[in-house]
Amino acid sequence: MATAKFETPALKPYPVIPLVAAGAMANTKPFVASAAIQANLGFPGELSEGWEARAIDKMGDLLGKYRSLRVYMDACVHCGACSDKCHYFLGTGDPKNMPVARQDLMRAVYRRHFTFAGKHFPWLVGAVDLDKSVLDDWYSYYHQCSECRRCSVFCPYGIDTAEITMAAREIMDSVGVGQKYANEIIGKVHKIGNNLGLPGPALRDTLEGLEEDVKAETAADVLYPLDVQGAEVLLITPSADFFAEPHVESLIGYGKVFHAAGISWTLSSKASEAGNFGMFIGNYEQLRKIAMRIREAALELGVKRIVVGECGHAWRVAYSFWNTLVGIGAGGKDPFAIELQQQLDPRYKQPMHICELTHDLIGRGALRFDKEKNDHRIVTFHDSCNVARGSRMGDLPGGQFTIPRDIIKAVANRFHDMAPDGTHEATFCCGGGGGLLTDDLMELRVKGALPRMEALKQVADQHGVNFMATICAICKAQFSKVLPYYGFEMGLVGGVHQLVSTAIRLGEHH
Ligand code: SF4
Ligand code: SF4
Repeated sequence: MATAKFETPALKPYPVIPLVAAGAMANTKPFVASAAIQANLGFPGELSEGWEARAIDKMGDLLGKYRSLRVYMDACVHCGACSDKCHYFLGTGDPKNMPVARQDLMRAVYRRHFTFAGKHFPWLVGAVDLDKSVLDDWYSYYHQCSECRRCSVFCPYGIDTAEITMAAREIMDSVGVGQKYANEIIGKVHKIGNNLGLPGPALRDTLEGLEEDVKAETAADVLYPLDVQGAEVLLITPSADFFAEPHVESLIGYGKVFHAAGISWTLSSKASEAGNFGMFIGNYEQLRKIAMRIREAALELGVKRIVVGECGHAWRVAYSFWNTLVGIGAGGKDPFAIELQQQLDPRYKQPMHICELTHDLIGRGALRFDKEKNDHRIVTFHDSCNVARGSRMGDLPGGQFTIPRDIIKAVANRFHDMAPDGTHEATFCCGGGGGLLTDDLMELRVKGALPRMEALKQVADQHGVNFMATICAICKAQFSKVLPYYGFEMGLVGGVHQLVSTAIRLGEHH
């Protein structure tokens, strides 16, 4: 059982808007990045004289670059529709965790420096100067937003707090105040190729060990290949899949799918990470630099298809940004992007999600399953925010909701969805997304998981659900850690391809 220095919220039978607890989370903040970590990414190491003016310049820069940011700053009418939609407000009661209040932290500074009224009559419009105390509030509360976009679904103007959080983090990085966890990880990707800092030889050993384990369990020669020139598919997957539990069970499942369908595939030691924390810190250059490794690996290996494993924000980056970011998918115009477009097979979506691949194979009868092998599991599905609200799958609207559920129903007999106010586009964040999956934010993570835990408890009580499937590495890691705080077994969470792995028949090619 997990030990906690804070009180875990009690699970209620239905969602209740909490009593407001002003300042409850004011002192909750992640560790600040050291000067060395900042320097690795080309950011200043600490606050230095004149930082206020530089931060305002950066804000002006972002307002000019992203028209949406200026619209979000101007459009809010303070209707309050978003106020009770954030899992961090529901779990902590801190009013600054209401999305509108989170936005107002930046809006007050925006008004002071970028509006006529704020420049001349700041007291009339709630405009404030950016000083150290305001910056401290920014650091706390812009690191209590997982950029999940749930609030934007309920805002009549579609104001996206996630984008405001990203802008705030970018402004803070630009004056030397970065978050240790996210920025250290980005540094590891640049240096070694993945979030975990796992070097190529260790990765090869891990994959060989996996082949031996699967052979011992199934008697089949399922391969987990690395750096295979000329393979059909390059699989880009979160590095947690290589050894973390339950993540690795899904990697085992992907390998079995490729094996059963007779598709040659490879992983890459250069691009051994699907995650892209550049999005979490709102920095385009970092986002691009991380994604560039994948394009380089695809060109070097000469693959025909690029498939993305179970990772929520990675799929958002791949689906929504890779095309214009690095030319994977139509959009890139530089010579390497054009070369890649000519190399990739136009008969397939580029990139494709592993769920789209498996779903398509199931639809064409290319895979066979023994569903009863999953009969010990009563399954529900947690929609991950970045898949649900930042991307799509398949050819039909809502494919990101139906495709994973179709796969689950094809491989398991017992499935029950959670209540509709917390699934599909209204899904609740796991509480650890957006660069917050760090132990220095454990209280926030546990409290932010409350709405999801309440919905899970309902289906556990009503239907005996004992397995929550998801297609996100962060959700898997976050739930493994917080489930015990709420009295659930940590093994209750797993991947969709973990279920596929259990039921798939090997040795038959169709
Ligand atoms: S984006 Fe998500 S975490 Fe951020 S304020 Fe909105 S609901 Fe809360
Ligand atoms: S729902 Fe939209 S307009 Fe209303 S308070 Fe929230 S952000 Fe502002």
